[in-house]
Amino acid sequence: MPQPNQIGYAAMSVCQIFSFRKKELLFFSVNSYGLNGMGLQSIELYYQMPKELINEATYICVLNACSHSGLVNEALSIFKTIEIETQRIYTTIIDCLSRALFFEEAQKLMEEFERLHIPALPMYPSATVLLANVDGSSGHIDKASDIKTQLYQSDTKKRIGLAWTVTNRQVYQFRAHDRSHPRSHEIKAELEKIANELIDHGHVFDAILCGHSEKIAIAWNFVVNPHTSKIQVTKNLRVCGDCHRATKLIAAIRQCEIIVSDANRIHHFYTNGQCSCNDYF
Ligand SMILES: [Zn+2]
Ligand SMILES: [Zn+2]
Repeated sequence: MPQPNQIGYAAMSVCQIFSFRKKELLFFSVNSYGLNGMGLQSIELYYQMPKELINEATYICVLNACSHSGLVNEALSIFKTIEIETQRIYTTIIDCLSRALFFEEAQKLMEEFERLHIPALPMYPSATVLLANVDGSSGHIDKASDIKTQLYQSDTKKRIGLAWTVTNRQVYQFRAHDRSHPRSHEIKAELEKIANELIDHGHVFDAILCGHSEKIAIAWNFVVNPHTSKIQVTKNLRVCGDCHRATKLIAAIRQCEIIVSDANRIHHFYTNGQCSCNDYF
């Protein structure tokens, strides 16, 4: 894997060759690291950026990268150096603290923001709901993410959850509880097989959320290629906590790397049962 400074130099060279603006390319690099859960690399590249190229969007990207990798101290260090802390920057740092279950600190920052500004509605809705619903001392990150997912999906409830995958050079689209596929009986059988394997490995299903489109897309891959070692799925909404827990286990049980690009980030589920997001999503 290339080192961060190599990426930085590569970005500079590409700028020179193709006359891209340095600012845009470095910005995209910081953002890409963040989306791939490479928080430390994103931070390192951010610190290499010339100050004059850094703007609000750069701060948001690097704080999001910290958020997705659970790098709370690093996020707070960066936040303290920001001269003009806009509402979007506050929202991002509060989101970062909430995801990592630092609810007291998140609450303090909300109050600080309200003292300094008159917040426009809806300000930091995810953090507010997380604070309202999860007890900081006993909260569980997956549950917190579920609440956030529900909130996000309540905003987008008119959007149907869809997942796409490619098998044998053909694109397939699935929706939640989809039975329209001509081989849906095989997919259903595979889903049941996967469900039994998950239960054998201690997974407890959330009955309401089970049957999401990405689970169906994953099952379809195993129907077509039972011994596949790599599956790629794209989803239009955020992956839910249940699918995330289940996919980690499926990757380990079936020894198959699974990559899910959702509306928020890219998850690499490895065969050791871990996800590149370290469960911060
Ligand atoms: Zn799900
Ligand atoms: Zn993940």
